[in-house]
Amino acid sequence: MTDEGRLRALRALPAVDRLAARLANGVLPTPAEAVSVARAVLAERRGELLAGAPDDDDADLLARARERLHPGPRRVLNGTGVVIHTNLGRAPLAVTAARAVHEAAQGYADLELDLDDGRRGHRDQHVRELLRELTGAQDGLAVNNAAGAALLAVAALAARQREDRPVIVSRGQLVEIGGGFRVPEVIAQAGARLVEVGTTNRTRLADYERALADERAAGAEPVLLRVHQSNFRTVGFVEQVDVEALCGLGAPVIDDVGSGVLTELPALADEPPVRRSVAAGAALTVFSGDKLLGGPQAGILVGRAEAVEACRRHPLARALRIGRLPLAALAATLALHRDPDRARRAIPVLAMLDVPRKTLEQRARRLADACGGEVVEAVARVGGGALPLLELSGPAVALDPPARAADPDPAHLAAALRAGRPPLIPRLHAGRVLVDPRTLADDEIGHAATAIRAALAHLATNL
Ligand SMILES: *Cc1c(COP(=O)(O)O)cnc(C)c1O
Repeated sequence: MTDEGRLRALRALPAVDRLAARLANGVLPTPAEAVSVARAVLAERRGELLAGAPDDDDADLLARARERLHPGPRRVLNGTGVVIHTNLGRAPLAVTAARAVHEAAQGYADLELDLDDGRRGHRDQHVRELLRELTGAQDGLAVNNAAGAALLAVAALAARQREDRPVIVSRGQLVEIGGGFRVPEVIAQAGARLVEVGTTNRTRLADYERALADERAAGAEPVLLRVHQSNFRTVGFVEQVDVEALCGLGAPVIDDVGSGVLTELPALADEPPVRRSVAAGAALTVFSGDKLLGGPQAGILVGRAEAVEACRRHPLARALRIGRLPLAALAATLALHRDPDRARRAIPVLAMLDVPRKTLEQRARRLADACGGEVVEAVARVGGGALPLLELSGPAVALDPPARAADPDPAHLAAALRAGRPPLIPRLHAGRVLVDPRTLADDEIGHAATAIRAALAHLATNL
């Protein structure tokens, strides 16, 4: 754009008060709120124009301002079939967990207060007993997320030695989990020294024994770290040492099992159960709150009393502490795991993995009938770095862009669905848009059908 054109576009921007007045017209914001939003939208648009944005992309300032009035994260319908979808907030909460959050959010809470004696308590008190009960561990601690829990575990156990802090890890477990969480970097950040043993595909007990002997001969007291592969598997000529054998070596073991299997289902057989690592004698077992545990974002450490206490006392524990709302959700979710049968029904991610085919077929039929889609056979995934090989087959509703649409690109239909209210997130497969009923609750089917009809109508009229 020419300088002159840019100047004209800048001058043509409405005054803050005018945009604010239109925004306030008929909707809820207070005058001050409307002015704040109008000011932000105009500053953004001015910045775009100054950076050379063309004046002809008709920036609808009022629409932008309305969008800004309702900050996210907002509720979306998960039609992807990916049960633990990190981009969609991983595990939806169980009803009792959501209620516990609501309750804890309404006023003050006995977060760090012992109601018996009125003295200062610790926020752990709310999950400590539950974690002991459910895992058989001597003690337990919850922090902000599992990446933080792993960092804390390595820092607290390796840092108990004064100078050299070796952490022995199999080369097959030097993994990247996602979001930049890489095991070698976590060890470095924790101030420890990585000692690699074995090879990418095979690591034997003798490899650990040799490294342990070498380190001990040099006067160090190493820690052994095991990390679950989570989002991939090595198959074929492979060998890893199981947690029982590793614990038999006499050095403290940190077992990062990742997904947090507390209730064992046949479908979860390929993920490490927390209880097994605890029973094997791991000093610390680390796992997520929002993967197969099915609760809020949280990281959990369970294990031997002195190891958990070392984590609790470490300065990083304060930096990683869990908030009161996730803590309320975590305690309520853990309580559901006391009864495995109830957990499978009441915890959404477990229910979705276990949902009967007949229920899926009914949901798919209802949805297809209500929006004109076709029921097809499809394959969904668990997601969230768990059970990467598990294929969840079942019915899905396939949608095609309206025949009259100028551009029948399925990506445009997906975009129209994402732009809906509520947004519906589908998955694209073999050139079609699929909506998977596994990740939609029964009471979401009607909303999904409405959202699909609206998106199809939108595409049909915008030729
Ligand atoms: C997912 C995972 C983590 C990170 O957990 P977050 O809850 O995402 O922080 C760490 N270690 C393993 C083995 C995992 O699978």
